[in-house]
Amino acid sequence: MVTIIDTRDVAGGVPKPRHPEKARNPDTPRLPKPAWIRVRAPQSAEYGRTREIVRKGGLATVCEEASCPNIGECWSKRHATMMIMGAVCTRACAFCNVATGLPAPLDLGEPAAIARAVSELALEHVVVTSVDRDDLSDGGAGHFAAVIGAIRAMTPRTTIEVLTPDFLRKDGALEQVVAARPDVFNHNLETVPGLYLRIRPGARYFHSLRLLQHAKELDPQMFTKSGIMVGLGETRDEVLQLMDDLRSADVDFLTIGQYLQPTPKHAEVKRFVPPDEFAALERIARAKGFLMVAATPLTRSSYHAGEDFARLRAARAVRAG
Ligand code: SF4
Repeated sequence: MVTIIDTRDVAGGVPKPRHPEKARNPDTPRLPKPAWIRVRAPQSAEYGRTREIVRKGGLATVCEEASCPNIGECWSKRHATMMIMGAVCTRACAFCNVATGLPAPLDLGEPAAIARAVSELALEHVVVTSVDRDDLSDGGAGHFAAVIGAIRAMTPRTTIEVLTPDFLRKDGALEQVVAARPDVFNHNLETVPGLYLRIRPGARYFHSLRLLQHAKELDPQMFTKSGIMVGLGETRDEVLQLMDDLRSADVDFLTIGQYLQPTPKHAEVKRFVPPDEFAALERIARAKGFLMVAATPLTRSSYHAGEDFARLRAARAVRAG
């Protein structure tokens, strides 16, 4: 039995378990990683500089909290995805490495700190995400809006992508975020509906779909985006149905990546999907009408987000004629 300890939180010398709710889970077997999933260890000078700016600003990034395999590449290009409202989440999804617990009160200085970091990193495009904050009456929507406003004020040319929680039972939350005019509204479905109870038990598939659809209805000019992981036990037909569901909700951009198991207590990887299957999924999704599709084993919703945003805009311009 392995207990995962959060070594960053040793207040009073007593380390807290990072995933207390998963401590009783049996260890699941780990499949050996195929060659196509291996990445190089971070080492560039730019990587170190990005880390310095993140540390100096006291910021959390999903790159670190989710143990993203792309951190070496992304941070070497100064592309860090900001995680706001703390590093402790009120949900306990079976795939996610972010710590679960009762989050601290909001840091009202955070919007300015994020804007400063965006400026220091000279980001043309920034992705801002958050933990779930079911404890807040607006789910953190007002804080998202404050962060968008602070970035717009400090670096008006930076385009902004938000990757939000589902705002389940938070009336008016989505409207607050959309009113702040992000360039891209992203909310990940994460997996097919049949796996929600096991993988994303605190969420509701059709609520998430409706959130994406409603975001587009509120602001048809705003790009909408969603992503899933594969390798969790979903079937190909379920993935194709999910694509149709997202197109019905008028979602512009779909990302598909391989699920990687953060610890033996998390949901197991059922299968490593080979690169040619990702390429086939990408072709099918494009044929179904998405403006943009990114589907590779290492695709994450914020991976290459800046370059993909430029492609997204170009694709819309072409389609508009
Ligand atoms: S893919 Fe996203 S989460 Fe992963 S390192 Fe890059 S920016 Fe961070």
